[in-house]
Amino acid sequence: MKTINIAIDGPAGAGKSTIAKMVSARLGYIYVDTGALYRAVALYITENNIADEDIEKALAGADVSLRFVDGAQRVFLGDRDVSDLIRTPAISMAASRTSAIPAVRAYLFETQQKIARENNIIMDGRDIGTVVLPNADVKIFLTASAEERANRRYKELAEKPDCPPYDEILQDIIKRDYADMHREISPLKQAEDAVLVDTTTLNLEESAEAIVKVIESKIG
Ligand code: C5P
Repeated sequence: MKTINIAIDGPAGAGKSTIAKMVSARLGYIYVDTGALYRAVALYITENNIADEDIEKALAGADVSLRFVDGAQRVFLGDRDVSDLIRTPAISMAASRTSAIPAVRAYLFETQQKIARENNIIMDGRDIGTVVLPNADVKIFLTASAEERANRRYKELAEKPDCPPYDEILQDIIKRDYADMHREISPLKQAEDAVLVDTTTLNLEESAEAIVKVIESKIG
């Protein structure tokens, strides 16, 4: 049976994961956050102090996998659930750096395609519509201004004890955008057949609504 694949790409902090989760719940699809895979690989490389030239070999023993518990994605290194450990600014930056290494992308490519072959999914990332699922039924490029994205992240982190200043968050976002858009392999860019959704002036419900409309207009 052919599965339905919806690709959502866009820069860090555009709200992809929150919005994609809302939309998948509404449509009954599985939500796949591919950033978590890159983060888990970054954690593995960091924890094991693996040098760049040794990454390809080392990945054979990394055993990164996604499991779905009550529809919610968890990411594992072997049998260890690292879903929470990967959500630090240090791992964000490490993932951005290590995701530019061809061996890392090659390692995660098949994992992502297999999930898409076997399930109706909404998959978010940077290169889903362009590289991982070029034949996706619907492609969306979700973005918002860098300032608005920094603002949202700041509000999210403000409740935590070690919240960085707004300017630092904005600089991190700008740095990560630049690195993701300018890397040689699978750079972040809008697929030619992707629909652009800009959420700068939209709240979460409005953003989810805009995406549901795009999906309905493509697959009814
Ligand atoms: O989406 P998230 O911010 O969790 O992703 C962390 C990093 O992983 C991104 O900055 C990006 O460099 C990388 N990534 C990628 N391709 C994807 C998803 C994430 O290169 N499909």
